[in-house]
Amino acid sequence: MYRGSQSERRCVTPAHPARQGQAHSVTCYLTMDARTDNEPVIHVFRDIDFRITSDDVLRAMKIRRVAPSLERLATELVEKANEAARPKALCRVSFIEDRTDDTLTVENQIFTSRVLRQNLEGIQRVFPFVATCGTELEHLMPDRTDLMASYCLDTIMMLAVQKARRHLEKYLKATYSLGQISRMAPGSLEDWPLQEQRPLFDLLDDVERQIGVRLTDKCLMIPIKSVSGIYFPTEVRFESCQLCSRANCPGRRAAFDAEATARYGI
Ligand code: SF4
Repeated sequence: MYRGSQSERRCVTPAHPARQGQAHSVTCYLTMDARTDNEPVIHVFRDIDFRITSDDVLRAMKIRRVAPSLERLATELVEKANEAARPKALCRVSFIEDRTDDTLTVENQIFTSRVLRQNLEGIQRVFPFVATCGTELEHLMPDRTDLMASYCLDTIMMLAVQKARRHLEKYLKATYSLGQISRMAPGSLEDWPLQEQRPLFDLLDDVERQIGVRLTDKCLMIPIKSVSGIYFPTEVRFESCQLCSRANCPGRRAAFDAEATARYGI
C-alpha cells in the first residue's frame, strides 16, 4: 500500500489483460478480492496530508517586501488552513479503445485533440484525473473585500491543489511502476478545448459526489483551484506550454518550442 494515501479502491488491476469481449476474473493485488476486469478502477483520495508554513505562502505570493501586517495575516490564515484544508484527488485507470487521426476513445468517451492523440501513440493505459484544493478553504473567508487577504487565501488554495496533484502523481508512479509521466489538460491548448472537460468528467463518474468538484455550464471547475486532465507514461517530458506562445504567462513551465508545434501539426 502506498504510504500516506487514503485512496478508496473499487478495484485495482494494474496489469490489464487483453480485452477479449468478456468478463475476465482478476485478483486485486492490494485487497486480494476477486474482481472482474469490467469493473472500473478508481482511486479516490479524500484525506491528503496538508501542512504549510507562512513562509511557503509568502514565497509563493512573490512579494518582495513583506510588511509585518502581511506576515501576521499569512500566519493567521495558514493556522486556520492547516486545520481546515482537505485537498482531494480522483483518478480512473482507463484504457484506449480506438484511435483516429485526431481522436481517442477511452472507455466509451471520445476525446478530440491532435496533440493528445500523438502523445498517446503506442500507449494503452492512461490515468484521467481531477485534483482540488477542496471546498473547505473557501469558508475561511466568506467576505473577499480585503484584496490582500483574498490573494493570500488564493495562494494557500493553490498550494493545496498542488499538494493534491503531486500526491496523486506520486501514487500513480509508485503503484503502477511508472517512470516519467506527463499530463495534458482540456483547455490548456486550442487543440484540446475546455469543452473536452465534459467527456473527462463523464469518464470519471460523479466527480462532485466523490471529491466535491463540479463543472459549470462553461466547463469551468468549482472550486476554481482544481486541475483536471489525463496522465500518461512518457519517455520525454511533455508540457503543453511547449506548444503555447502566450507571452508573459506566470504559470509557464516550459519554453515555447516552435519546432515541436510544427511537428504536432497545430
Ligand atoms: S504558457 Fe501559460 S497559458 Fe500557455 S499552456 Fe503554459 S501555463 Fe497555460
